[in-house]
Amino acid sequence: MPTPRKRSRLALQLLAFGLLVAGTAWLAFRVSLATGLAELQVTGRHRLDLYTSSLEWEIDKYAYFPTTLGLERDVVKLLTTPASTPAEIEVVNQYLEQLNERAGTFSIYVLNTQGQVVATSNWRRPDSFMGEDLAFRPYFRQAMENGSGRFFGIGTTRGEPGYYLASALTDARGTVGVAVVKVGLTQLEKSWGTAEAPALVADENGVVILASVPDWKFTTLKPLDESTRGAFDRTQQYNRRALRPLGVEERAELDHGARLVHLPKTGANVVSIIPVSGDFLAQTQPLPGTPWSISVFSHQDPVRELATSRAALAGAGAALLFIVGVMLNQRRRHLKERLAARDALQRAHDELERKVEERTRELSDTNTRLQAEVVERTRAERTLREAQDELVQAGKLAVIGQLSTGVAHELNQPLAALRTLSDNTRKFLERGDQATATGNLVRIAELVDRMGRLTSQLKSFARKSSGEAQAVSLNKALDNVQFLLEQRLKRAGVNVSLDLPPDDLQAWCDANRLEQVLVNLCGNALDAMAGQPEVALDISARREGEHIVIQVRDHGPGLSEAAQSRLFEPFFTTKEAGLGLGLGLAISAGIARDFGGSLGGANHPEGGAVFTLDIPAAPGGPTP
Ligand code: ADP
Repeated sequence: MPTPRKRSRLALQLLAFGLLVAGTAWLAFRVSLATGLAELQVTGRHRLDLYTSSLEWEIDKYAYFPTTLGLERDVVKLLTTPASTPAEIEVVNQYLEQLNERAGTFSIYVLNTQGQVVATSNWRRPDSFMGEDLAFRPYFRQAMENGSGRFFGIGTTRGEPGYYLASALTDARGTVGVAVVKVGLTQLEKSWGTAEAPALVADENGVVILASVPDWKFTTLKPLDESTRGAFDRTQQYNRRALRPLGVEERAELDHGARLVHLPKTGANVVSIIPVSGDFLAQTQPLPGTPWSISVFSHQDPVRELATSRAALAGAGAALLFIVGVMLNQRRRHLKERLAARDALQRAHDELERKVEERTRELSDTNTRLQAEVVERTRAERTLREAQDELVQAGKLAVIGQLSTGVAHELNQPLAALRTLSDNTRKFLERGDQATATGNLVRIAELVDRMGRLTSQLKSFARKSSGEAQAVSLNKALDNVQFLLEQRLKRAGVNVSLDLPPDDLQAWCDANRLEQVLVNLCGNALDAMAGQPEVALDISARREGEHIVIQVRDHGPGLSEAAQSRLFEPFFTTKEAGLGLGLGLAISAGIARDFGGSLGGANHPEGGAVFTLDIPAAPGGPTP
């Protein structure tokens, strides 16, 4: 469905189309008509000149006739002799009769100065003019006054219209008479036999006396008033003919006296090969030597038809141009739209590329930043690890600090024993009691060994371990822990009960750090049980899947609520200053995590606290 906007645009286009086609056709019609009429005018003028000259020639041909009669002796004699004999008259009559026949004119006759016919070519006919008084005829008067006269009139005797050419006949004494030749209209019209356009000659009264269309004859070009009609009656010029108007309708005046006129249909039976009614271009000019005017009517139809077909052609051309224009415009619009679409696409593409570049840059920036962050984090982790290591070390040193009293005691006792034994041995040697001395020396050696074992144990505990995971014997670790804590356990009177599987469990961790965790858990248990009625430390271990679960349970007061929620927080301690740093459990949990395990603390249902250490089992070990 076209939108209202499209519809109104279509309506506008149709209107423009209609206006353009109609306007162009109208213009072409007007121009073509004007040009055609101008051409028609030229043609008409030529015809007018042609018809005029041929008519002139035709009239002139007869005009010399009356004059030549003056040269005839018999004629002059007849006029000058008052009483001519009938024989003399007959001679002239016969002469005129022959002349008339040869010339093919209506009649030739001679009048005396009174206007009486004295000889005539039609002397034999019953309606002969002979003896008639024609003094009233204008041509007679003209000839008598001016030497010649011309007159169009209808014969009074036979009623035949004709052109009267009269000439005064003179001799030495002056005018002796008048010779007249009457030319029939058909003779004059002969020259128009091939007329291509209707033509007419009107006399000074506007009465059509010659016409290529028979019906036009004796019509009037202008209406006659009553006085004129009266005058006609007197002169019998038109022999009382009806003289109806031709009915030329004047339409427009053009240049050079040309007019556009409309000629009515003159009668139903007009037979003509050229059109004699309708629209015509009328051109009129005076006929030289006469008071008459000659008019030629050129038919407008061919011009109008040509103008119409040119208008149709121009209209069709305009329509074609319009359609081509519309098509071109549509094509241009289509191209424009395509270009716009291409531009939009290009812009979108550019924008996309720009965004891609931007993203790529951002990504590479992010990447660089991430790399920097990774480097930074690695460095931070290393620093953290170093710090952790330092912390672990600090924790260890703290434990050693706590052990120092026991260690000092452990070393002092053998040292004192060594002192006594060495003194006694010297005395036994002096006494010669070799056997006892030897026994003492063995004892001394044992004491030194034990002291060496203790110091090396302490040294090994205190050393900075690499933290690298490897298979570690749990039994050995527990032995070392008990050895390190031996003095404290002894002083606290605590029995350690071990619940271990028959096969030594192998943990996947660092031996030194595992011992550190266990020393820490056992140390805390001993601290908790200080002053308690029942003291016992239960250590159990078992394998669960890929993990080894070690539990250290004491029979102390258990974990307080605050301790439970903040157990692994660094620097959380309930111990007196100098006795605890609050780092032990935090470090131990960190060590467990580092090996891929965990550390948790809870209260045992039957009292006391129980700490559970979960560490990965060494690969390939026995599974339960
Ligand atoms: P420190 O021993 O230096 O205080 P720890 O991190 O080892 O640091 O212990 C933190 C605290 O957790 C102790 O101060 C104590 O309050 C509590 N705690 C640890 N082990 C036990 C235990 N077995 N029974 C009761 N309380 C304990």
